[in-house]
Amino acid sequence: MTVRLYDSRAQAVRDFVPLRSGEVGMYVCGPTVQSSPHIGHLRSALVYDLWRRWLAYRGYAVTLVRNVTDIDDKVLANATESEPWWALAYRVELEFTAAYSALGILPPTYEPRATASIPGMQQLIDELIERGHAYSAEDGTGDVYFDVRSWGDYGALTRQSLDDMSESGDAPTRGKRDPRDFALWKGRKDDEPASASWASPWGDGRPGWHIECSAMSRRYLGTAFDIHGGGLDLRFPHHENELAQSSAAGDAFASYWVHNGLVAIEGQKMSKSLGNSIYAAEFLGSARGIAIRYYLASAHYRSTIDYHDGSLAEAEAAIDRIETFLARAERRTAGTRWAGSGTGVVPEEFGAAMDDDLGVPQALAVLHERVRAGNVALDADDVDQVARIHGEVSAMTEVLGVHPSQWPVAASGGDTALGALVERMLGDRAAARQAKDYATADRIREELTAAGITIEDTPDGAHWSIA
Ligand SMILES: [Zn+2]
Repeated sequence: MTVRLYDSRAQAVRDFVPLRSGEVGMYVCGPTVQSSPHIGHLRSALVYDLWRRWLAYRGYAVTLVRNVTDIDDKVLANATESEPWWALAYRVELEFTAAYSALGILPPTYEPRATASIPGMQQLIDELIERGHAYSAEDGTGDVYFDVRSWGDYGALTRQSLDDMSESGDAPTRGKRDPRDFALWKGRKDDEPASASWASPWGDGRPGWHIECSAMSRRYLGTAFDIHGGGLDLRFPHHENELAQSSAAGDAFASYWVHNGLVAIEGQKMSKSLGNSIYAAEFLGSARGIAIRYYLASAHYRSTIDYHDGSLAEAEAAIDRIETFLARAERRTAGTRWAGSGTGVVPEEFGAAMDDDLGVPQALAVLHERVRAGNVALDADDVDQVARIHGEVSAMTEVLGVHPSQWPVAASGGDTALGALVERMLGDRAAARQAKDYATADRIREELTAAGITIEDTPDGAHWSIA
């Protein structure tokens, strides 16, 4: 029962051994809150939500830190006269929070904002200067750069030598010793608002992006922690630079590096310039949250998801099958004693799949096999078997965050309206039967059947589901 995970730094699947027995410290790079969340952001957050839930299921006390980058070139660029950068950042942060919540993604243990951790960043920069790995720009701009040539291990994460690397993306290049040096501190420019700068030993300015994560992980998880996560697109330069800064400052930093795959749209990389981004608001409106969560979780976390029209239909059908089985099983076993010992425990094959680098696709195959077996048991009226499988299916769906009880009963206005209508018709049918008007009762049942609603009569009344 050892959890194994693909460590991108080692480029191998490794047994997970925590630094402190029974505990996991996990840092995940959160969004830069410059514009509305898109489907790729949701997938990334969901991946670490699944890791967190699985590690917790395996008995670990998980501390998950996911930051908010609320100060950045892009945040400043998107601010307007009527909406200053900090108001924009907060508005977008709330959009992210709402989108995460709509997908059942649990809030992280801590969610630090970069602007609330500036002293820790300055401390780290100071240590790097002390150790000879950073320097103040010689042109008086107030910039401070990491000196990549001073750190022999630069490139260790992505296995690149310095000669293969292009210039850092900082623009413009001001007073650098080497074009590949990257900014730890950015001196205030004349056209930037005073509210976006902080006093420092090197002059007023603001932190570079990479230093934020090194400082926030240190503050909330310590100088050594277990897992660092983020999207595959962040490996270079962002994660490479985080690793260089933290190691050069003497921190052990992350024991394991985990990277999630991206989301493509009809085979194409999603990008602003292609105009093919699917934003969370549009995406979340296209199906129930539980089905969208299932859809995004169902691919292996390291693979690319290729989204296209109709992608969600299969997920909807899968969720329907699970819900229908659980509802039938609950009705059949209500009032009976639970039999078997499987209640609340996932089947062994499911656990083995999840332990093996979070093998959700294989785990879902086990889940659907159990649902099928459960339906067979229901048809055979084998109540003990139904109860046992009900327990297993509940445990599997709970750990994946797709158990119906974890979701609001009526997830959309459509569901509410349909539910009210069907309940009303079932009430009329019950009244007709009570009055021995069987012709009317049968007619109502036929109408519902014709509309694709299946009715199941039980001792405690009629129950319905969508066929
Ligand atoms: Zn980061």
